[in-house]
Amino acid sequence: MSDCLFCKIIKNEIPAQIVYEDAGVLAFLGINPNNPGHTLVISKNHCENLLDARGEDLRTLISVIPKIAKAICDSLDYEGFNLNVNNGAVAGQVVNHLHFHIIPRKAGDGHELFFGRPYEEGEIEEVGKQIQKKLK
Ligand code: 5GP
Ligand code: ZN
Repeated sequence: MSDCLFCKIIKNEIPAQIVYEDAGVLAFLGINPNNPGHTLVISKNHCENLLDARGEDLRTLISVIPKIAKAICDSLDYEGFNLNVNNGAVAGQVVNHLHFHIIPRKAGDGHELFFGRPYEEGEIEEVGKQIQKKLK
């Protein structure tokens, strides 16, 4: 897509620190990292988010993520990583070209996740049933 920032990076119209590239996938460093090495992995075929991605593109994209994540951790001495997709503006998606964030993690780096609240009595069954019904 011509006005898409990440498509412009794919076409070399905007510079980026690329760490991995193959026929279908590009991985590069985000400019506002949670930790140094925070990497964005994208398909070269434009799609806006996880819900409009083609299955084949998604499979290709996901299949290279472990290799890239391991290289980030091994080269920069991280102990683990978070894999994240911000899907939709309400979830924090700013760039409308599907991207997986690989956020490398170290003990004590201060990026602790919000662990939520326990369900009320009977709530987990009700919520589970509603989702299950949609998936039938
Ligand atoms: P989102 O909030 O859409 O899930 O994430 C957007 C990501 O794009 C962020 O990690 C941010 O650092 C990255 N980003 C935004 N603009 C640019 C840019 O011009 N170049 C690069 N390399 N990354 C960018
Ligand atoms: Zn795009």
